[in-house]
Amino acid sequence: MSLESGELHIEEQLLQKTLEHALANVKFYGKAVQRAGHLSSPSLKDFPIIDKNTVEANFEDFLYLDRFPDYVISSGGTMAGAGAFSLRAQEEYEAIYFHNSGRHPRKRYEYFSPDGFAIDLFTHTNGYHWRKPPGLPVLPFTLEQEAHALFLVHILRDGLPIQGHRCYPVHLQGQCGPMRTLTGYIDVLGEKVIPASSSLGTLVYGSHTTRVWKDRYQSIWGSRPRELYGLSEFAPGSAQQCDTCGGFHFRTCWTEFLALDNDEPTNFGDARLVLTSLFPFVQMQPRIRYYTGDIVSVGGVCPATGRISFKFRGREKNSVLSRGDDKTVLFSEVEVQEVLDQMKSVACQTQVSELRIWESTNLPKPPYALGYPRFQILIEEKEETTLACIEIEVTFEPDVEKQKSGHFRELFAGLLFCEAPGIEEAINSGCLSLNISLMPQNSLRLNVKSSA
Ligand SMILES: [Zn+2]
Repeated sequence: MSLESGELHIEEQLLQKTLEHALANVKFYGKAVQRAGHLSSPSLKDFPIIDKNTVEANFEDFLYLDRFPDYVISSGGTMAGAGAFSLRAQEEYEAIYFHNSGRHPRKRYEYFSPDGFAIDLFTHTNGYHWRKPPGLPVLPFTLEQEAHALFLVHILRDGLPIQGHRCYPVHLQGQCGPMRTLTGYIDVLGEKVIPASSSLGTLVYGSHTTRVWKDRYQSIWGSRPRELYGLSEFAPGSAQQCDTCGGFHFRTCWTEFLALDNDEPTNFGDARLVLTSLFPFVQMQPRIRYYTGDIVSVGGVCPATGRISFKFRGREKNSVLSRGDDKTVLFSEVEVQEVLDQMKSVACQTQVSELRIWESTNLPKPPYALGYPRFQILIEEKEETTLACIEIEVTFEPDVEKQKSGHFRELFAGLLFCEAPGIEEAINSGCLSLNISLMPQNSLRLNVKSSA
């Protein structure tokens, strides 16, 4: 039995344990499965598909609090309304750490100085939770003032003296907002913080990273960033990007991929991602068959891991689907973001680190926006046609500067059609009506998470 197939077998056992735990201890599941008439030997199919709203409406019925909880974790609610709240226990995090590393979570990590260390750049927007065992060579950093940025530069350039050796960072990871701010800051600082001959491994998490930003990270840090896909409800067990298939795999929760227009499982194409937390990685607030609200592209079975490979395709509420039998995503916020990051005059969210640093520094801003572009996609399904409206905030007066607006819309549409070639055909066949609407800065009511 290979390591991965052994792991898959363990996950099946953990799934069974989870279902039994939920039936015995969690009120919502006790009631839901009893209603369905299945009491002995539960299987996943006996459980209803739920979502954030189900948990919100029945919050206490989802809890199993055999002791006082340690943390409240909240989702950033990425452009999708209210956040999801999870009560979590220290043991859950430790179980994930042990599963991923094979090491005891409370035992001091034996650090060897030639290994270098990692820097983790984050804000507390998802709530405070256990971050690492003692001695693990990861330095958690915040970035809110120029002094923080300058201290980071110092650590990046000069490292730390540990056990009589000079140790340098070899990896930099962070939430997308502060990572973009730090990268822009280093860019305008114009100082080489890492030697020309070396590079830092980088990882960016929190939301989609566009090609424009991947190129920028590569030019500043010397490496193309890896990404994570995860939900705070299942944190920190995120899906990691696989070196073999390039897709993502979860190891600490159970995945199901369901068709876009019914609850049938599918192993290929665009699908709705449904997750089940696994015991012991989630104990206090199990979520079984939890629809993430996200559509993913499923790429078949990965040859290296035996797991189904997937990539984030977009939030369902921001995804415009094709019509007809084999439904796919025509475009989502992913393509819109890719296009807007290539354009000028787009109004962007100002992340707190950017705001604070450039309130006090003498450095100029970089010649590109650091924040998340401000836009929304409104979708209305009519009998024959899907009406989609992309509302984009711009830094000029769209109603006054008519010519500029016309050019912007034309360029945007051209780039979007390149990004998602199915759009033009859908418009020509009458299945899609697309409206691009430019809005003045700060006129949209958007729910952008502060770490973006
Ligand atoms: Zn893979």
